[in-house]
Amino acid sequence: MGKRYLVLGAGISGLAAARALLHQSQEVLVLEAAPTVGGLTRSIVVSGFTFDYTGHLLHLSRSASPSGVPFADLKDEEWQKVSRNTVALVGDQLVPAPVQYNLVDVPEPLRSRFIDSYEARLSGPISSFKDYLVQGFGEALSEEFLIPQNEKTMVTRLERLSDKAIKRFFPQPVEEKVRDGMQPGAEKPEEYNSQFWYPKTGGIEKLVHGLERGVPVRIMTEVAQVDWRHNKVIAKNGEEFAYDELISCIPLNQLCRMTEGLEEYVPWLTHSQTVILNLGVRGSVPEELEGVHWIYVPDRKHPFYRVGVYSNFSKGMVPEGYHSFYVEMGVPGDDHPHLYAMQQNAVRNMHALGWLQTRDVVCSVLTTIPCAYVHHTLEREVVMEALLPRLKEMRITPIGRYGTWDYTSMEDSIYGGIEAAEALL
Ligand SMILES: Cc1cc2nc3c(=O)[nH]c(=O)nc-3n(C[C@H](O)[C@H](O)[C@H](O)COP(=O)(O)OP(=O)(O)OC[C@H]3O[C@@H](n4cnc5c(N)ncnc54)[C@H](O)[C@@H]3O)c2cc1C
Repeated sequence: MGKRYLVLGAGISGLAAARALLHQSQEVLVLEAAPTVGGLTRSIVVSGFTFDYTGHLLHLSRSASPSGVPFADLKDEEWQKVSRNTVALVGDQLVPAPVQYNLVDVPEPLRSRFIDSYEARLSGPISSFKDYLVQGFGEALSEEFLIPQNEKTMVTRLERLSDKAIKRFFPQPVEEKVRDGMQPGAEKPEEYNSQFWYPKTGGIEKLVHGLERGVPVRIMTEVAQVDWRHNKVIAKNGEEFAYDELISCIPLNQLCRMTEGLEEYVPWLTHSQTVILNLGVRGSVPEELEGVHWIYVPDRKHPFYRVGVYSNFSKGMVPEGYHSFYVEMGVPGDDHPHLYAMQQNAVRNMHALGWLQTRDVVCSVLTTIPCAYVHHTLEREVVMEALLPRLKEMRITPIGRYGTWDYTSMEDSIYGGIEAAEALL
């Protein structure tokens, strides 16, 4: 008889793992706490507006187009390839992002300060993400932009984070690119996310439809305990599920909390939350945001770290004559945010910046991502070295961005699920 595989969480990594196992005719069941599958890769339709669980753009590095994503059954004609157009609010001006490669566009006197401090940057041992920024880009740009932007996003001091925290997602301190960006008219360097794919209609959830095809999922089944000694999982409603191999894409801190012998790791697995205010708005987007996909907002006086314009990804996200935003705010991982106050504050600030006329808002939807950015602390590396072999002994395979407590894209999460499943066969 074959093995019974139980997957915790129907995020895209869990669904991809299940599809890979089903493809090999294995017995699989997925347990999902929410009433719908897809995890963070979901979309909601309200009053004719489609909102994602904050902007989710498909960046592909392993296939040329969406139809190449394994098990997702995507049709290229339903997706559009978009050249990224992003800006950052520096001083009171919008500057093309990443700012570190576009210093020529920074208003004076900030530009001279950034360039002078870049020339005066010192090199030395790098023991944190903060050191990496200051030594790579100079103190002024780091203090004014890079540090507050990343601290607002990840809701932690950058001294705590390792320089391995961000990997390819962060534009690196490549001298040639920084210097080119000091010259007018220089060609923009290619980055991992210079282009992205986005569905013409229906939001990012389109990625999930194929992945869930044929996968047996028990929705509204929140896992409360993993009894690895008896190879069973116990749900909050008391139901028990037996397995031979357990695969988990639920957040690793949660898994440790519910698994005997792993509780000691929980305090080391810290993270941020993101609260997202989605707004449907009458009329066209303000002129300065025309064609802009998202705006970085480093200044701590504004409550949000990023504002995105869904309707600039795809017109199919809004009814004709409207536009839509997502406004992202970082919160400490263990806080219970006052959502109503956050919403009011965000709207007030959007209004003050001239990006929103409050009277034009026709609908708003608040969502939260309770585990958004995992903290790649120096301790995280040590903890993972001890934790991964323990999980292996317990026949638990972690997958996905939160299962592996890493910083990964949707594409990475899908491939990670498939590769882990195949390795178990
Ligand atoms: C703010 C933000 C923006 C992002 N933007 C992008 C982007 O533009 N492009 C990109 O490629 N990636 C982006 N990502 C990353 C992307 O969201 C992840 O890589 C991907 O969604 C991870 O999928 P997953 O299946 O591993 O996890 P998840 O989507 O988190 O799935 C986990 C599933 O487990 C379920 N679950 C949790 N606890 C339990 C329990 N106790 N019992 C049962 N089920 C449970 C959850 O309900 C969920 O369905 C972004 C992430 C964030 C936070």
